[in-house]
Amino acid sequence: AQRRLEKKNVFITGASSGIGESTAREFAKEGSNLVHIILTARRLDRLDALKEELKQTYKNIDIHTLKLDVRKKKNVDDAIASLPSSVKDNISVLVNNAGLVLGMDPLLDVTEEEYDTMMDTNVKGLMFVTQAILPRMIEQNEGHIINIGSVAGKQSYQNGSIYCASKHAVDAITRALLYETMSTPVRVSQICPGMVNTEFSTVRFHGDKEKADSVYAGMEPLVGQDIAELITFIASRPPHVNIVDTLVFPTAQA
Ligand code: NDP
Repeated sequence: AQRRLEKKNVFITGASSGIGESTAREFAKEGSNLVHIILTARRLDRLDALKEELKQTYKNIDIHTLKLDVRKKKNVDDAIASLPSSVKDNISVLVNNAGLVLGMDPLLDVTEEEYDTMMDTNVKGLMFVTQAILPRMIEQNEGHIINIGSVAGKQSYQNGSIYCASKHAVDAITRALLYETMSTPVRVSQICPGMVNTEFSTVRFHGDKEKADSVYAGMEPLVGQDIAELITFIASRPPHVNIVDTLVFPTAQA
């Protein structure tokens, strides 16, 4: 397939692990075809280590790291404002990936703190980062927002009420944004993965690795790279093509 990622600035949230980290690696393969890759997350040490590794592997690549907690609008605005204008004003691909699930518990056991953390990260965070970057995309007449939703945004499952609610919100926001950007060249896409084996897998069971591994018993889950390859594929379609929504499962997941 013809690749059309030349001269793009790519901004990735949640690039310190899992799908976001794999996405950074996948975009980095484009090397100097890309102008800048902006890696963001709260764990700056991980981003800096990833940056060093990628710069060693792919020469002439321009990678920025940015400590970014997506949950507070002011943090998001200030962090993005701190980037050089050549970087922040020319973002052509935004991957809204930062997200988490805290606990896989019945609704009766979900705490207010867990609710707030999931909603603030998965929904508000996506909104704040989009609000900071979309106007610049509209101004430069180019942009592609790729939201990482989930199968949990398409259906609900037992013990996943609030996470499912947060990902249904991502689904709703993606659809609304699609209309809101219709008169602009900006594209909006969503990828909805099934089971992907990342740190997320243990976080959701409060760090219980045994319980986390038992979910994948007898099946081969997806890995971050499977989603990352899809992200770069979607981002590299010609400007008149928008892959709006994609559901990706491990073959053994029903
Ligand atoms: P990981 O736990 O490996 O990665 C989550 C990323 O989100 C980390 O880089 C983390 O960085 C970042 N993050 C979490 N909270 C914040 C915050 N407040 N501000 C900024 N960044 C934050 O999980 P995945 O890679 O699996 O998850 C990525 C996305 O994929 C999520 O949106 C998740 O809901 C979605 N998804 C995952 C599936 C799976 O089975 N794994 C299935 C379907 C969807 P840091 O802690 O450094 O801030």
